[in-house]
Amino acid sequence: MIITPHMLVGAAIGSQSPNLWIAFCLGVVSHFLIDILPHWDYLDDINFEGSSLKKIALDFILGSGLILIFAWSYNQMIVIMMAAILGALLPDFLVTLSSLVKNKYLRSFCLFHHKVHFFKGLSFWQGLPVTLLVMLAAITFLLRVWG
Ligand SMILES: [Zn+2]
Repeated sequence: MIITPHMLVGAAIGSQSPNLWIAFCLGVVSHFLIDILPHWDYLDDINFEGSSLKKIALDFILGSGLILIFAWSYNQMIVIMMAAILGALLPDFLVTLSSLVKNKYLRSFCLFHHKVHFFKGLSFWQGLPVTLLVMLAAITFLLRVWG
């Protein structure tokens, strides 16, 4: 899944977590649960050229902007929310790091990530509904629509 839904779900988790460590751990777990869902993902064939870096930067800026908008009222929870967001982004960061650094632990982690990740090559339009649904659920949660 792209960065923005992971960030929004991390923020939603952090908004309800009692402390940093639980928020971080649940953020990591959320990453894998979201990656199981059928989705489109530009991160699957990432390289370190300009176009990939632009996509990552735009995705990160979009996620940060949406969190600023929808989590504005959680100012006292921001550190816990950041911990959950970091946890939610950590798996993809480690996968990216493993392509730069040869390490057997990173390699094992990548194999695990690959096993739970949905790799069916959906097109952008095929994967968009699930991506939007995950984002909408997280935003709805952040807005406390259900009380
Ligand atoms: Zn992932």
